[in-house]
Amino acid sequence: MSTLIPHWRDGARWPGAASRTGDVHDPATGRVAAQVSFASAEEVDAVVREARVAGRAWAEASLSRRTSVLFAFREALVRRRHDIAAAITAEHGKVLDDALGEVQRGLEVAEFACGAPHLLKGSFSDGVSNGVDVHSLRQALGVVAVVSPFNFPAMVPLWFVPVAIACGNAVVLKPSEKDPSASLLLAQCWAEAGLPAGVFTVLHGDKEAVDALLEHPEVASVSFVGSTPVARYVYETGTRHGKRVQALGGAKNHMVVLPDADLDEVADAAVSAGFGSAGERCMAISVVVAVDPVGDELVERIAARMAGLRTGDGRRGCDMGPLVTGAHRDKVASYVAAGVEAGASLVVDGREVVPDGDENGFWLGPTLFDHVAPGVPVYDEEIFGPVLSVVRAASYDEALALVNANPYGNGTAIFTGDGGAARRFQREVEVGMVGVNVPIPVPMAYYSFGGWKASLFGDTHAHGMEGVHFFTRGKVVTTRWPDPASRPGIDLGFPQHR
Ligand code: NAD
Repeated sequence: MSTLIPHWRDGARWPGAASRTGDVHDPATGRVAAQVSFASAEEVDAVVREARVAGRAWAEASLSRRTSVLFAFREALVRRRHDIAAAITAEHGKVLDDALGEVQRGLEVAEFACGAPHLLKGSFSDGVSNGVDVHSLRQALGVVAVVSPFNFPAMVPLWFVPVAIACGNAVVLKPSEKDPSASLLLAQCWAEAGLPAGVFTVLHGDKEAVDALLEHPEVASVSFVGSTPVARYVYETGTRHGKRVQALGGAKNHMVVLPDADLDEVADAAVSAGFGSAGERCMAISVVVAVDPVGDELVERIAARMAGLRTGDGRRGCDMGPLVTGAHRDKVASYVAAGVEAGASLVVDGREVVPDGDENGFWLGPTLFDHVAPGVPVYDEEIFGPVLSVVRAASYDEALALVNANPYGNGTAIFTGDGGAARRFQREVEVGMVGVNVPIPVPMAYYSFGGWKASLFGDTHAHGMEGVHFFTRGKVVTTRWPDPASRPGIDLGFPQHR
């Protein structure tokens, strides 16, 4: 009998009815490692109502109390980071170092949220009129939902949860059903930190659970990260039900290489950003735009580096792990076949990889295409795997036009030694996160993370001050206390600040 991965409810593990379950694989062996319980709509309803009650009390907790829980949560995360990383590698497949890196980036958001007393300060204007003062405050929303993708089972929940909790909300997290265990370790950390039961809940599941959250009248907001079609659906459905929604979608990130760039630095960056986490990162580089005449030399240097990469079990010190499921591996491999059929030149074929791991693992090695152009699926679609395409451009303007014509706008990078060109690019490119000689420009926790166009529905990015705003509602209070020395008397005119 396989293990059942439970939900987290009322401060403890809870199996739920588990009338429906899903398989959780170890991608490095291909075996089903466990089953995960799927929440029904009725279970979502019951849990959200409990969260509403717990959230009311939590919103009343003093800022000092909330902050002390945040600091303790940060310590618990540090203590448990190796357990969390091991759970990620076991279910997602990414190599252990990379999994630890993801925990670290999530930890930085928890550290940002420790500044809640400062982040939640309102403003005050003394004497806006005779005897009248004005101040502003920000208050918690109530119950907020977070729906996260498979590719960052710890970091993406951590983009939202610490900020939401610091702001006084109760959170219901619906993690990806493909790698659900990391979320339970996060819940354990919250419990160890002294967060009252019910303020953080984990409900596993699929569309049924997500739909129940999107439609529930007691859910005030939804923070979603995942593929663009689902992000669009979540945004439209959630807003139709009166919720505040931020829905981060897919990506196709281009790296523009100008002729004056250091090609060794570029080749290192392209390989790291293209194949880290087997390309299953929303900020992965999937297209290198080589501006003439550097294409041939760059392709050669990238291919040479790829030959040194070791693909295999993430627990064995390899460079790149398997893909998350067999179905996803097959889908990515089908893009490789389609690329060949469309006439792109296949420089390195990852289908021929000899992995350092179980023969039944979901393997696909690093793959490189050259002479790719818009119109072929390998360029037009988000592949979300270890497939890097090189596109040739005749000039900076042609490269920029290519990036701006893409429907996605998550991340991009330019590699150049020319400050003027870099400055032009950061101003002219229609993408939310831009790197200058930095291939994966993920903003620090105190800035906000988010793309443009089909990479984000709604206008609020994750964490940083935008996160604080998303998880609170503003209120402005205008106050007059009677001054015994001067009473205003009756005045039927429209109130003016005189
Ligand atoms: P996904 O869209 O399949 O799933 C994301 C979440 O939505 C999961 O929790 C899943 O259970 C749920 N879901 C799936 N189908 C649903 C449906 N029809 N209705 C309601 N809920 C549904 O995404 P994924 O495969 O888990 O993650 C990979 C995708 O996420 C990629 O497209 C990647 O670019 C994107 N991503 C984007 C960012 C970003 O910041 N923009 C970050 C990470 C991942």
